[in-house]
Amino acid sequence: MSTYAAPLRDMLFTMKEVGGLDAICAQPGHEETTPDLVEAILQEAAHYATGVLDPLNRTGDVQGARWHDGQVTPADGFREAWASFCENGWNGMPAATEWGGQGLPTLVSTAVLEMWKSSNLAFSLCQMLTLGAVEAIAHHGSDALKRRFLEPMVAGRWTGTMNLTEPQAGSDLAALRSRAVPEGDHYRVSGNKIFITWGEHDMAENIVHLVLARLPDAPPGVKGISLFLCPKYLVNDDGSLGERNDLACTSIEHKMGIHGSPTASMSFGDCGARSATWSASRTRGWPACSR
Ligand SMILES: Cc1cc2nc3c(=O)[nH]c(=O)nc-3n(C[C@H](O)[C@H](O)[C@H](O)COP(=O)(O)OP(=O)(O)OC[C@H]3O[C@@H](n4cnc5c(N)ncnc54)[C@H](O)[C@@H]3O)c2cc1C
Repeated sequence: MSTYAAPLRDMLFTMKEVGGLDAICAQPGHEETTPDLVEAILQEAAHYATGVLDPLNRTGDVQGARWHDGQVTPADGFREAWASFCENGWNGMPAATEWGGQGLPTLVSTAVLEMWKSSNLAFSLCQMLTLGAVEAIAHHGSDALKRRFLEPMVAGRWTGTMNLTEPQAGSDLAALRSRAVPEGDHYRVSGNKIFITWGEHDMAENIVHLVLARLPDAPPGVKGISLFLCPKYLVNDDGSLGERNDLACTSIEHKMGIHGSPTASMSFGDCGARSATWSASRTRGWPACSR
Protein backbone atom coordinates (compact mmCIF):
# COMPACT_ATOMS: atom_id res chain seq x y z
CA MET A 1 0.00 0.00 0.00
CA SER A 2 1.25 3.44 -0.88
CA THR A 3 1.92 5.69 2.08
CA TYR A 4 3.37 8.75 0.35
CA ALA A 5 1.20 11.86 0.02
CA ALA A 6 2.94 14.92 -1.41
CA PRO A 7 2.46 17.99 0.82
CA LEU A 8 0.93 19.92 -2.08
CA ARG A 9 -0.66 22.74 -0.06
CA ASP A 10 2.59 23.43 1.81
CA MET A 11 4.62 23.27 -1.40
CA LEU A 12 2.37 25.67 -3.28
CA PHE A 13 2.19 28.04 -0.31
CA THR A 14 6.00 28.12 -0.02
CA MET A 15 6.47 28.54 -3.76
CA LYS A 16 3.97 31.41 -3.96
CA GLU A 17 4.60 33.25 -0.69
CA VAL A 18 8.33 32.64 -0.17
CA GLY A 19 9.73 31.59 -3.54
CA GLY A 20 8.06 34.33 -5.60
CA LEU A 21 6.35 31.99 -8.09
CA ASP A 22 4.32 34.76 -9.76
CA ALA A 23 7.41 36.90 -10.39
CA ILE A 24 9.35 33.91 -11.76
CA CYS A 25 6.49 32.96 -14.10
CA ALA A 26 6.52 36.54 -15.43
CA GLN A 27 10.19 36.31 -16.45
CA PRO A 28 11.00 36.23 -20.17
CA GLY A 29 10.96 32.64 -21.41
CA HIS A 30 8.46 31.47 -18.79
CA GLU A 31 5.38 33.20 -20.22
CA GLU A 32 3.58 29.88 -20.69
CA THR A 33 4.26 28.74 -17.13
CA THR A 34 1.20 30.15 -15.39
CA PRO A 35 0.55 29.52 -11.67
CA ASP A 36 -2.46 27.38 -12.69
CA LEU A 37 -0.23 25.24 -14.92
CA VAL A 38 2.30 24.86 -12.09
CA GLU A 39 -0.44 23.66 -9.76
CA ALA A 40 -1.60 21.13 -12.37
CA ILE A 41 1.99 19.85 -12.87
CA LEU A 42 2.48 19.41 -9.14
CA GLN A 43 -0.83 17.56 -8.81
CA GLU A 44 0.09 15.21 -11.65
CA ALA A 45 3.57 14.61 -10.19
CA ALA A 46 2.05 13.87 -6.78
CA HIS A 47 -0.29 11.37 -8.44
CA TYR A 48 2.67 9.67 -10.19
CA ALA A 49 4.80 9.58 -7.04
CA THR A 50 2.00 8.02 -5.01
CA GLY A 51 0.73 5.67 -7.69
CA VAL A 52 3.97 4.44 -9.31
CA LEU A 53 7.16 5.30 -7.41
CA ASP A 54 6.12 4.83 -3.79
CA PRO A 55 4.75 1.28 -4.26
CA LEU A 56 8.13 0.31 -5.84
CA ASN A 57 10.16 1.69 -2.96
CA ARG A 58 9.83 -1.42 -0.79
CA THR A 59 10.55 -3.79 -3.68
CA GLY A 60 13.69 -1.80 -4.40
CA ASP A 61 14.73 -2.00 -0.77
CA VAL A 62 13.97 -5.69 -0.20
CA GLN A 63 15.04 -7.12 -3.56
CA GLY A 64 17.64 -4.53 -4.55
CA ALA A 65 19.61 -4.31 -7.77
CA ARG A 66 21.44 -7.53 -8.71
CA TRP A 67 24.88 -7.93 -10.36
CA HIS A 68 25.67 -10.87 -12.62
CA ASP A 69 28.63 -11.15 -14.99
CA GLY A 70 29.11 -7.42 -15.39
CA GLN A 71 25.40 -6.70 -15.86
CA VAL A 72 23.02 -5.17 -13.34
CA THR A 73 19.32 -5.99 -13.18
CA PRO A 74 17.28 -3.40 -11.29
CA ALA A 75 14.61 -4.51 -8.82
CA ASP A 76 11.33 -5.75 -10.31
CA GLY A 77 9.22 -2.94 -11.72
CA PHE A 78 12.03 -0.36 -11.96
CA ARG A 79 12.55 -0.94 -15.69
CA GLU A 80 8.86 -0.43 -16.50
CA ALA A 81 8.70 2.58 -14.18
CA TRP A 82 11.69 4.20 -15.88
CA ALA A 83 10.02 3.71 -19.28
CA SER A 84 6.75 5.31 -18.14
CA PHE A 85 8.62 8.06 -16.24
CA CYS A 86 10.41 9.04 -19.46
CA GLU A 87 7.34 8.62 -21.68
CA ASN A 88 5.48 11.05 -19.44
CA GLY A 89 8.27 13.60 -19.89
CA TRP A 90 9.30 13.66 -16.22
CA ASN A 91 12.97 12.90 -16.87
CA GLY A 92 13.66 16.00 -18.96
CA MET A 93 11.27 18.31 -17.15
CA PRO A 94 13.96 20.70 -15.83
CA ALA A 95 16.15 20.50 -18.97
CA ALA A 96 16.28 23.14 -21.72
CA THR A 97 13.66 22.99 -24.50
CA GLU A 98 16.54 23.11 -27.01
CA TRP A 99 17.35 19.48 -26.08
CA GLY A 100 13.77 18.27 -25.73
CA GLY A 101 13.21 19.25 -22.11
CA GLN A 102 10.38 21.38 -20.79
CA GLY A 103 12.56 24.20 -19.49
CA LEU A 104 10.43 24.75 -16.41
CA PRO A 105 11.71 27.16 -13.76
CA THR A 106 14.00 25.53 -11.17
CA LEU A 107 11.51 26.50 -8.47
CA VAL A 108 8.93 24.19 -10.07
CA SER A 109 11.25 21.32 -10.97
CA THR A 110 12.77 21.36 -7.46
CA ALA A 111 9.34 20.72 -5.93
CA VAL A 112 8.69 17.86 -8.36
CA LEU A 113 12.15 16.33 -7.82
CA GLU A 114 11.49 16.46 -4.09
CA MET A 115 8.44 14.23 -4.65
CA TRP A 116 10.52 11.63 -6.52
CA LYS A 117 13.11 11.66 -3.73
CA SER A 118 10.56 11.32 -0.93
CA SER A 119 8.60 8.54 -2.62
CA ASN A 120 11.54 6.49 -3.98
CA LEU A 121 15.06 7.82 -3.43
CA ALA A 122 16.78 4.85 -5.10
CA PHE A 123 14.82 5.34 -8.33
CA SER A 124 15.17 9.12 -8.29
CA LEU A 125 18.98 8.92 -8.20
CA CYS A 126 19.03 7.66 -11.79
CA GLN A 127 17.33 10.84 -12.96
CA MET A 128 19.44 12.99 -10.64
CA LEU A 129 22.72 11.67 -12.04
CA THR A 130 21.41 11.91 -15.61
CA LEU A 131 20.36 15.54 -15.17
CA GLY A 132 23.72 16.34 -13.55
CA ALA A 133 25.53 14.93 -16.56
CA VAL A 134 23.19 16.81 -18.93
CA GLU A 135 23.96 20.05 -17.14
CA ALA A 136 27.73 19.42 -17.20
CA ILE A 137 27.69 18.66 -20.94
CA ALA A 138 25.38 21.60 -21.71
CA HIS A 139 27.69 24.01 -19.85
CA HIS A 140 31.12 22.62 -20.74
CA GLY A 141 30.80 20.22 -23.69
CA SER A 142 31.63 21.05 -27.29
CA ASP A 143 28.78 21.62 -29.75
CA ALA A 144 29.48 18.17 -31.23
CA LEU A 145 29.08 16.47 -27.83
CA LYS A 146 25.90 18.42 -27.12
CA ARG A 147 24.36 17.45 -30.47
CA ARG A 148 25.27 13.80 -30.04
CA PHE A 149 24.42 13.19 -26.38
CA LEU A 150 21.94 15.67 -24.93
CA GLU A 151 18.69 14.82 -26.70
CA PRO A 152 18.70 11.06 -25.85
CA MET A 153 19.79 11.82 -22.28
CA VAL A 154 17.03 14.37 -21.76
CA ALA A 155 14.54 11.87 -23.22
CA GLY A 156 15.88 9.23 -20.79
CA ARG A 157 16.80 6.75 -23.55
CA TRP A 158 20.37 7.14 -22.26
CA THR A 159 21.23 7.81 -18.63
CA GLY A 160 24.25 9.57 -17.11
CA THR A 161 26.70 9.08 -14.25
CA MET A 162 29.54 10.89 -12.52
CA ASN A 163 32.74 8.85 -12.09
CA LEU A 164 34.81 10.76 -9.54
CA THR A 165 35.64 8.49 -6.62
CA GLU A 166 38.56 6.02 -6.64
CA PRO A 167 39.64 3.63 -3.86
CA GLN A 168 42.36 6.09 -2.74
CA ALA A 169 40.51 9.29 -3.72
CA GLY A 170 37.20 10.14 -2.01
CA SER A 171 36.96 13.60 -0.47
CA ASP A 172 40.52 14.18 -1.63
CA LEU A 173 40.10 14.05 -5.42
CA ALA A 174 43.63 15.40 -5.81
CA ALA A 175 44.74 11.79 -5.24
CA LEU A 176 42.96 10.37 -8.28
CA ARG A 177 45.02 8.24 -10.67
CA SER A 178 42.79 7.48 -13.68
CA ARG A 179 44.56 8.42 -16.90
CA ALA A 180 43.51 9.73 -20.30
CA VAL A 181 45.95 9.47 -23.20
CA PRO A 182 45.20 11.38 -26.43
CA GLU A 183 44.76 9.28 -29.56
CA GLY A 184 43.42 10.83 -32.77
CA ASP A 185 40.08 12.54 -32.16
CA HIS A 186 39.53 10.83 -28.79
CA TYR A 187 41.32 9.70 -25.62
CA ARG A 188 42.11 6.31 -24.13
CA VAL A 189 40.85 6.36 -20.55
CA SER A 190 41.97 3.82 -17.94
CA GLY A 191 41.49 3.39 -14.21
CA ASN A 192 39.18 2.13 -11.47
CA LYS A 193 36.25 3.99 -9.97
CA ILE A 194 34.11 3.05 -6.97
CA PHE A 195 30.69 4.02 -5.60
CA ILE A 196 29.27 5.00 -9.00
CA THR A 197 25.53 5.54 -8.65
CA TRP A 198 23.53 3.76 -11.40
CA GLY A 199 26.90 3.01 -13.06
CA GLU A 200 25.40 -0.07 -14.75
CA HIS A 201 21.81 -1.21 -15.44
CA ASP A 202 19.56 -2.21 -18.33
CA MET A 203 16.82 0.43 -17.99
CA ALA A 204 18.30 2.54 -20.81
CA GLU A 205 19.93 1.82 -24.17
CA ASN A 206 23.20 3.53 -23.25
CA ILE A 207 24.96 4.95 -20.18
CA VAL A 208 27.01 8.13 -20.52
CA HIS A 209 29.82 8.13 -17.96
CA LEU A 210 31.49 11.44 -17.10
CA VAL A 211 34.92 10.41 -15.83
CA LEU A 212 37.58 12.41 -14.01
CA ALA A 213 41.08 11.51 -15.21
CA ARG A 214 44.55 12.99 -15.74
CA LEU A 215 46.28 13.76 -19.00
CA PRO A 216 49.87 12.44 -19.26
CA ASP A 217 51.38 15.91 -18.76
CA ALA A 218 48.89 17.02 -16.07
CA PRO A 219 50.27 18.78 -12.98
CA PRO A 220 49.70 17.03 -9.63
CA GLY A 221 46.69 17.92 -7.46
CA VAL A 222 43.23 19.12 -8.48
CA LYS A 223 44.57 21.45 -11.18
CA GLY A 224 45.63 18.36 -13.18
CA ILE A 225 42.14 16.83 -13.36
CA SER A 226 40.08 16.81 -16.58
CA LEU A 227 36.63 15.45 -17.39
CA PHE A 228 36.00 12.83 -20.09
CA LEU A 229 32.82 11.46 -21.59
CA CYS A 230 32.93 7.65 -21.90
CA PRO A 231 29.71 6.06 -23.19
CA LYS A 232 28.95 2.39 -22.48
CA TYR A 233 28.29 2.02 -26.21
CA LEU A 234 30.24 4.23 -28.61
CA VAL A 235 27.99 6.54 -30.61
CA ASN A 236 28.21 6.78 -34.40
CA ASP A 237 28.09 10.09 -36.28
CA ASP A 238 24.40 9.56 -37.09
CA GLY A 239 23.58 9.06 -33.39
CA SER A 240 23.12 5.29 -33.61
CA LEU A 241 24.87 3.01 -31.12
CA GLY A 242 28.18 1.46 -32.14
CA GLU A 243 30.46 -1.07 -30.48
CA ARG A 244 30.70 -1.74 -26.76
CA ASN A 245 33.27 0.52 -25.14
CA ASP A 246 36.03 -0.99 -23.00
CA LEU A 247 34.52 -0.32 -19.58
CA ALA A 248 32.91 -2.73 -17.17
CA CYS A 249 30.99 -2.88 -13.92
CA THR A 250 33.01 -5.28 -11.77
CA SER A 251 30.62 -5.37 -8.78
CA ILE A 252 28.00 -3.41 -6.86
CA GLU A 253 28.17 -2.43 -3.20
CA HIS A 254 26.22 -4.15 -0.42
CA LYS A 255 24.88 -1.06 1.31
CA MET A 256 22.85 -0.43 4.46
CA GLY A 257 20.09 1.28 2.45
CA ILE A 258 18.92 2.55 -0.97
CA HIS A 259 19.37 -1.02 -2.23
CA GLY A 260 17.35 -0.23 -5.35
CA SER A 261 20.12 2.11 -6.56
CA PRO A 262 23.13 0.14 -7.83
CA THR A 263 26.39 1.63 -6.50
CA ALA A 264 28.91 0.31 -8.99
CA SER A 265 32.64 -0.38 -9.09
CA MET A 266 33.78 0.48 -12.59
CA SER A 267 36.86 -0.62 -14.47
CA PHE A 268 37.95 1.47 -17.46
CA GLY A 269 40.30 0.16 -20.06
CA ASP A 270 41.55 -3.15 -18.67
CA CYS A 271 39.01 -5.83 -19.42
CA GLY A 272 40.16 -6.88 -22.88
CA ALA A 273 40.41 -10.55 -21.99
CA ARG A 274 36.88 -10.83 -20.66
CA SER A 275 34.91 -10.78 -23.87
CA ALA A 276 35.63 -10.93 -27.55
CA THR A 277 33.34 -7.98 -28.14
CA TRP A 278 35.26 -5.76 -25.75
CA SER A 279 38.37 -4.34 -27.27
CA ALA A 280 41.68 -5.13 -25.56
CA SER A 281 42.61 -1.52 -25.94
CA ARG A 282 41.74 1.12 -23.38
CA THR A 283 38.42 2.89 -23.12
CA ARG A 284 37.58 5.48 -25.75
CA GLY A 285 36.37 8.76 -24.47
CA TRP A 286 35.89 12.33 -25.59
CA PRO A 287 36.99 15.31 -23.54
CA ALA A 288 33.92 16.89 -21.94
CA CYS A 289 36.05 19.51 -20.23
CA SER A 290 39.80 19.63 -20.08
CA ARG A 291 42.07 22.01 -18.19
C1 LIG B 1 25.61 5.65 -1.76
C2 LIG B 1 26.78 6.37 -2.36
C3 LIG B 1 26.72 6.78 -3.68
C4 LIG B 1 27.82 7.43 -4.26
N1 LIG B 1 27.75 7.80 -5.58
C5 LIG B 1 28.86 8.30 -6.16
C6 LIG B 1 28.87 8.57 -7.57
O1 LIG B 1 27.87 8.44 -8.26
N2 LIG B 1 30.03 9.00 -8.13
C7 LIG B 1 31.17 9.19 -7.40
O2 LIG B 1 32.18 9.59 -7.98
N3 LIG B 1 31.20 8.97 -6.06
C8 LIG B 1 30.06 8.53 -5.43
N4 LIG B 1 30.08 8.26 -4.08
C9 LIG B 1 31.31 8.47 -3.34
C10 LIG B 1 31.31 9.71 -2.48
O3 LIG B 1 31.45 10.85 -3.28
C11 LIG B 1 32.47 9.52 -1.48
O4 LIG B 1 32.05 8.56 -0.57
C12 LIG B 1 32.84 10.80 -0.83
O5 LIG B 1 33.52 11.62 -1.74
C13 LIG B 1 33.72 10.57 0.41
O6 LIG B 1 34.83 9.79 0.07
P1 LIG B 1 35.23 8.51 0.97
O7 LIG B 1 34.01 7.63 1.08
O8 LIG B 1 36.46 7.93 0.39
O9 LIG B 1 35.49 9.06 2.42
P2 LIG B 1 36.81 9.81 2.92
O10 LIG B 1 37.23 10.84 1.95
O11 LIG B 1 37.83 8.77 3.32
O12 LIG B 1 36.25 10.51 4.22
C14 LIG B 1 35.99 9.75 5.42
C15 LIG B 1 35.67 10.74 6.54
O13 LIG B 1 36.79 11.64 6.73
C16 LIG B 1 36.33 12.98 6.61
N5 LIG B 1 37.38 13.78 5.95
C17 LIG B 1 37.93 13.56 4.74
N6 LIG B 1 38.86 14.48 4.46
C18 LIG B 1 38.90 15.32 5.52
C19 LIG B 1 39.67 16.49 5.83
N7 LIG B 1 40.58 16.98 5.00
N8 LIG B 1 39.42 17.10 7.01
C20 LIG B 1 38.50 16.62 7.88
N9 LIG B 1 37.75 15.51 7.64
C21 LIG B 1 37.95 14.88 6.48
C22 LIG B 1 35.06 12.94 5.79
O14 LIG B 1 34.20 14.03 6.07
C23 LIG B 1 34.45 11.61 6.23
O15 LIG B 1 33.73 11.78 7.43
C24 LIG B 1 28.98 7.66 -3.48
C25 LIG B 1 29.02 7.26 -2.13
C26 LIG B 1 27.93 6.64 -1.58
C27 LIG B 1 28.01 6.21 -0.13
